[in-house]
Amino acid sequence: MKAAFTLEGKVAVVTGSGQGLGQGMALGLAEAGADIVGVNYGPTAETKEKVEALGRKYTELVADLSKEEEVYRVVKEALQSVDKVDILVNNAGIIRRTEVENFSDKDWHDVIDVNQHAVFKLCREFGKHMLENGSGRIINVASMLSYQGGLRVPSYTASKHAVAGLTKSFANEWAGRGVNVNAIAPGYFATANTAPLRADEDRSASILSRIPKGDWGTPDDLKGPVVFLASDASSYVTGHILCVDGGWMSS
Ligand code: NAP
Repeated sequence: MKAAFTLEGKVAVVTGSGQGLGQGMALGLAEAGADIVGVNYGPTAETKEKVEALGRKYTELVADLSKEEEVYRVVKEALQSVDKVDILVNNAGIIRRTEVENFSDKDWHDVIDVNQHAVFKLCREFGKHMLENGSGRIINVASMLSYQGGLRVPSYTASKHAVAGLTKSFANEWAGRGVNVNAIAPGYFATANTAPLRADEDRSASILSRIPKGDWGTPDDLKGPVVFLASDASSYVTGHILCVDGGWMSS
């Protein structure tokens, strides 16, 4: 069974690997044996150092994924910098919070550009390369707001519903061609993304009261799920959205 979970000899591209959930998943994949290509706004010294301390290679690529031309450039650079890409983790994402009646066009477009448009393009572009190799794993990062409306976050909710749809759409077309496409839907995790929620005592208490596990998730909690979806252990799993939520969805 250990062999089914190993990622020795694999290369994983992880977007937004500099902090939070992306860093946690990059470290989990490296612990399972994968080399990492991190795609971020800028250098990610901490992740690089931690991946290298595990004896794995870390290739640092810089791109603003809200810009179409930078998405295409970084795909090209990634494919030039490593022999092959086996795993893609579409993790980079942003959120903007304002009540819907005052939600600006800018906050709509900024979030959709990164969370939805870039995810579509990265799936398609790295996916073509995986199809040529006859194998690959794509893991998108969805959300509880792939299922629910949320409060004050319409562009985020729309984009995460789209991530769920894209995951199923790509999975259907590529299931018979060696490329599995799944998503992880994290519940409520302690990262920069949720700092304003955790700082609001009432909101934090209300969120925690619905989590059967009783606490916010941590980036380490995604290591096992991402390794499972990236490895041979999940070879018959595709088009699935795996909730990693301390029980939120069932409560
Ligand atoms: P985070 O700590 O804010 O990390 C997001 C990462 O994405 C950062 O490394 C950030 O870079 C990068 N990023 C954002 N926009 C980018 C862009 N235009 N180009 C390149 N990189 C960009 O948030 P997180 O909580 O770890 O979130 C990671 C993913 O999980 C997101 O897709 C989020 O929607 C999803 N998620 C989070 C939670 C949660 O509870 N935290 C729950 C459900 C889903 P910088 O470091 O430079 O800002």
